[in-house]
Amino acid sequence: MGNFIRKSRKAPLKLEGLYAAIRRLPQGHGTLPILETAYASRKAGFGGEQQLDKVFENYSFPMKYRVLHDVSLTSSTPFQIDTLFVTPAYAVIFEVKNISGELKIVSNPPQLIRVLDNGEVKGFNSPITQVENIRTLLQDWFHTRNISLPVYTAIVLAYSKQRVELFDTKTPFLFPNAVPNFIRNLPIAPPLLNDEAFSMLINDLVKSHREYIPSPICLTYPEIKSKILTGVACPSCNFFGMQKYMKGWRCTACGRTSPDAHKQAIRDWFLLYGGKMRNKDCRAFLHIERQSATRVLQGMNLRLEGANRNRTYSMFIE
Ligand SMILES: [Zn+2]
Repeated sequence: MGNFIRKSRKAPLKLEGLYAAIRRLPQGHGTLPILETAYASRKAGFGGEQQLDKVFENYSFPMKYRVLHDVSLTSSTPFQIDTLFVTPAYAVIFEVKNISGELKIVSNPPQLIRVLDNGEVKGFNSPITQVENIRTLLQDWFHTRNISLPVYTAIVLAYSKQRVELFDTKTPFLFPNAVPNFIRNLPIAPPLLNDEAFSMLINDLVKSHREYIPSPICLTYPEIKSKILTGVACPSCNFFGMQKYMKGWRCTACGRTSPDAHKQAIRDWFLLYGGKMRNKDCRAFLHIERQSATRVLQGMNLRLEGANRNRTYSMFIE
């Protein structure tokens, strides 16, 4: 099917960063349970988005359309869309929520209140406000390109066992299997974009997408900064402290080798600490010498700034 721009959704960097922190903290560290909870909730959210992806994989619609997963754009400020359904006549923003427990959406002030089975109550930002903000930002993004497409919004509750109590809102709350009917029941409108303008819009959306780089984990949890275990992890046995040799890395625990185990370690560094990496940061984190650090850093797709000893590298993901 040619209707998918990006068929598979990549695990978000936030999830990868939390995983790096969990793996690199000594056992029994007080922040581990908090990180594990955050990781589980992110992972559930990602699972929810994949549920919706499956619906779009299994249905096709009679009109011309494209489905874009996980789009990060910038208008006055960066914004992220879980799933964007675009046709020449309108666009639909799907915001996926996967929050366990009984949910209550209230309007004044706008909030989502979650009650767990054990009675624990927690408030979250209202998904309605969130999706309305995204709609405004997407409309602004369209306007700067002289496009005025109506933009619909819907909130998808990833798992159909979820119980929700809603106030009278115009924003639809849907379970994934209701999404195809929701789309089919949208008002049929004449196309506002001709074929050429529509493909230009799709290309522009794809080209403008920038992977969202989340705030570094150690900024959110500063207490873990000095406790992070350094070294390159063995992809076979997870031992930290692979040793560099000419062609790659050798594990001192299981003896296996890897040509590129450093790549994950460097990603971990950026996701944990953020900012710019200098040669000496790389040496300290990977336990290697200056020349190896230079080779390793130059072999990755990083953004370079400065020269010689002032050179820095930052995360740049296409
Ligand atoms: Zn090993």
